[in-house]
Amino acid sequence: MASYDDNNIFAKILRGEIPCNKCDEDDFTLSFHDIAPQAPVHVLVIPKGRYVDYADFAANASAEEIVGFTAAIKRVAEKTGISESGYRIISNIGDDGHQEVPHLHMHVVGGAPTGRMLTKRS
Ligand code: AMP
Repeated sequence: MASYDDNNIFAKILRGEIPCNKCDEDDFTLSFHDIAPQAPVHVLVIPKGRYVDYADFAANASAEEIVGFTAAIKRVAEKTGISESGYRIISNIGDDGHQEVPHLHMHVVGGAPTGRMLTKRS
């Protein structure tokens, strides 16, 4: 796994160097609207700690951070009004996962039917 890059864009958002459209925040997490939404609701939930991806987080985060991250996802769904209608959570990891930003983030997408999970390979 690559080591954490402090210059990634989400690290800059956490340091307040670039703005975000905040949805939710607590001691462990920051959640903000995706700059290029792929659904009517598309929010990114990130831990405040320096974790490259979900595998790094699962291996190295504290129990408090893991509980906080899990709770933040549910809270974001409630705040954005999609918890009743349903939604999808996605975390891309590494090259095959098509991860673009190397700071763990969970996509919370909903507000309309999201379709099949993956496009069928031909
Ligand atoms: P991933 O491919 O899982 O790494 O997704 C990265 C996501 O970050 C994409 O959906 C981008 O649209 C989103 N993104 C990139 N820069 C920003 C930003 N400055 N503010 C909000 N979302 C961003």
